[in-house]
Amino acid sequence: MVKYVYAFEEGNKEMKTLLGGKGANLAEMTRIGLPVPLGFTVTTEACNKYYEDSKEMRQEIIDEIFINLQELEHKTQKYFGDIKNPLLVSVRSGAVFSMPGMMDTILNLGLNDESVEGLAKVTGNERFAYDSYRRFIQMFSDVVLDISKYKFDHILEVEKGKSNLEFDTELTLDSLINIIKQYKELVKKETRKSFPQDPKEQLLMAIEAVFDSWNNPRATIYRQLNDIPSHLGTAVNVQSMVFGNMGHTSGTGVAFTRNPATGEKKLFGEFLMNAQGEDVVAGIRTPQTIEHLKDVMPEVYEQFNNLAELLEKHYKDMQDIEFTIERGSLYLLQTRNGKRTAAAAINTAVEMVQEGIINKETAIMRIEPMQLDQLLHPTFDEKSLKQAGKITQGLPASPGAATGRIYFNAEDVVKASKENEKAILVRLETSPEDIEGMVAAQGILTARGGMTSHAAVVARGMGKCCVAGCGELRVNEKNKTFKVNDKVFKEGEYISLDGNTGNVYEGRISTSEPALSGNFAELMKWADEIRSLKVRTNADTPGDAEVAVKFGAEGIGLCRTEHMFFDEERIQVVRQMIVSKNIEERMIALNKLLPFQMQDFVGLFKAMGDRPVTIRLLDPPLHEFLPHSDDDIKILAEQINAEYQGLKEVVEELKEFNPMLGHRGCRLAITYPEIYEMQVKAIIKAAIEVKNQTNIAVKPEIMVPLVGHEKELQVIRKLIIDTATIVMEESKTEIEYLVGTMIEVPRAALTANQIAKHAEFFSFGTNDLTQMTFAFSRDDSGKFIGEYRRKEIFEKDPFERIDQAGVGKLMEIAVDLGKQTRANLKLGICGEHGGEPDSIYFCHKLGLDYVSCSPYRVPIARLAAARAAVINKDQSK
Ligand code: ADP
Ligand code: MG
Ligand code: MG
Repeated sequence: MVKYVYAFEEGNKEMKTLLGGKGANLAEMTRIGLPVPLGFTVTTEACNKYYEDSKEMRQEIIDEIFINLQELEHKTQKYFGDIKNPLLVSVRSGAVFSMPGMMDTILNLGLNDESVEGLAKVTGNERFAYDSYRRFIQMFSDVVLDISKYKFDHILEVEKGKSNLEFDTELTLDSLINIIKQYKELVKKETRKSFPQDPKEQLLMAIEAVFDSWNNPRATIYRQLNDIPSHLGTAVNVQSMVFGNMGHTSGTGVAFTRNPATGEKKLFGEFLMNAQGEDVVAGIRTPQTIEHLKDVMPEVYEQFNNLAELLEKHYKDMQDIEFTIERGSLYLLQTRNGKRTAAAAINTAVEMVQEGIINKETAIMRIEPMQLDQLLHPTFDEKSLKQAGKITQGLPASPGAATGRIYFNAEDVVKASKENEKAILVRLETSPEDIEGMVAAQGILTARGGMTSHAAVVARGMGKCCVAGCGELRVNEKNKTFKVNDKVFKEGEYISLDGNTGNVYEGRISTSEPALSGNFAELMKWADEIRSLKVRTNADTPGDAEVAVKFGAEGIGLCRTEHMFFDEERIQVVRQMIVSKNIEERMIALNKLLPFQMQDFVGLFKAMGDRPVTIRLLDPPLHEFLPHSDDDIKILAEQINAEYQGLKEVVEELKEFNPMLGHRGCRLAITYPEIYEMQVKAIIKAAIEVKNQTNIAVKPEIMVPLVGHEKELQVIRKLIIDTATIVMEESKTEIEYLVGTMIEVPRAALTANQIAKHAEFFSFGTNDLTQMTFAFSRDDSGKFIGEYRRKEIFEKDPFERIDQAGVGKLMEIAVDLGKQTRANLKLGICGEHGGEPDSIYFCHKLGLDYVSCSPYRVPIARLAAARAAVINKDQSK
């Protein structure tokens, strides 16, 4: 028989899939004897059954829940709905991967008109009992009965207004009783039923509501953003309540064992006295820093500090811990590996290796390659920052630098960013409803909330710059303005945020490039020791190449020569070349282009030194270089001294129905060999020049695009070698170069044994290969891929992550066949996939020699390649 419910004593930390992250860790803490309130977990399997049964809870699951409830009553000696000593529980969601704040939690369940009296009696605190009941009705109605929270807030605010109160904690017993009465009336009005009084009914309704919340819109978006599959389901934890709102010796808080923004090894967190759960994160009252607990309750602080250290050692990772103090006793309510910024992840991992807690491989596996992205983006330019006008300061909730126009709700931010506008989301405080706006924004600014507020936690997870709790900000979300020190800022105006200091500036501030240093450099060094896959870069200019070398690129895997043609000086000559009526005319234009191309390559070779440089010969259809409107054609006609009508005809003639499958790539060289001839001359001449000037042995690798048939390559290879030989003989200098091909046409992959006869290297052009394998146009697939993903036909866009089953299969075939012909065939990848971690793992497994990606992806690829080596080693053990 399947077991659907586990008491905390029955589980452990390895059981995340079944018990969810929260449940497994509650069980683990219970198992190792830490102070955790008793409870039980309803499994993710129960959740999945619930969905299988069309959202109906099976009797066997219900029975198991009630058996466990009975045991809980027995152990706590408290009873559900009891007038003398009632058991109250929290009902808490807990997915396999933590999704902070994405799903719902209900506290104080079990209260009704009678048990509230019981609670008052055992605690000797009527005010507390009624305050708990009030909170419960509100939370239950919001989560289970789907009645908007603001309707309850309104009642509360009116009641507070009557006696001019600022904080909920100041409400008198009478007002609380009055509020509860109004709350219940509201429930009756909204649901046409009375607020449920039977605790068992409350419990089942709450558990179902948590199951339902697995599919609420914000949880769904969060899962999509974080690649969490929806079939996992959520577990539900039912736990007996402890109370942080029982007066001045009670409280609640959250703390990290290290600073989640910087990694500094020091408790980092916040707490609030006389408060319950959500109060800390909701940003209603501003919490105090955890150090302050030392002054308020020194013994509890000491105990907490010890437990935090113990948990970190036990889990061998930075912990994010939730706790509650009930009348001086400390309880732990949750622990999990803390979410952290990339900087904190690196510092923590490197320092834990130095502290002897983990090894280098584990450190490498601790950092998600894509997280590095956060560190590879520009920060504010020092000079420009000094001149900037600071308007106020908030908490440095999530590092980075952001400049943009201000918008006051998620929708406006999304709209602005669709129009390519850089936007900053400004809110009083954020809530899970704002998530889409937070994704689209450059940065987030909030007036309320602390370092663990929703805005702060979510922004850090996304690696997005955030300044939170900016107390001087008077935000008017309705009028779309904010005021700070008498100055009013309106929607659309520019501000800049510094997530490292919390400073807020008016206007725009220019940014500067990041650098690899300190622990980051140390970690990358370890990655380089561990990885076997080489990392090159896709770069077309010396500038790009220099950035890439700084980030550790070991060569250029793809230089697209056509990008050099668009330069203003030369596009005219390129056009002249294209519209030439005969070879003589074309040669005149090509000879003009030659020195330009040569200088391009000289720059590139100098930047790369003796690292290999792969240069791809001209690839795109020629008409891409031509003007299209009549007016532009007229202008061109004048410039190149041609006749308008004739030119227009040439342009028309070059138009293709399907240019992606048209006259491009090596096909151009079959019809116009003189174009590639010029390019090869430029490459070899440049190599000779650099060799003579600097004595560096330049290593060009000449790459032919879009080959599908061995004879195409055979012809072009001869052309390349003949041309190069002439140039080298003329200058009496020998250059070592390779000739190879892209593998981007399925036929090339399938006949790779034949192709390899004429190629010293293969480079997988997985963009085109994906396009041609799926027959998806790269330029049009945006229209439908989104729907494919929503319908879960695709887990990921195949243009982002290699489709291993199809495109990957072709790569595998090409590798096998190619090596049969040429054992030392050099293998690489230069499509966008070369910078995507999962695709990099795949390339490692295929046995490629290198991946090539954009300069800013190079460190990501180095780390991903190291992780691939670690994973592979573990698997082959
Ligand atoms: P989330 O997953 O959003 O963090 P939790 O289930 O952790 O939600 O609940 C939020 C907060 O509610 C907790 O941090 C804790 O302060 C409070 N809480 C939950 N269960 C209990 C309990 N049994 N006793 C006291 N407080 C609780
Ligand atoms: Mg929690
Ligand atoms: Mg291509």
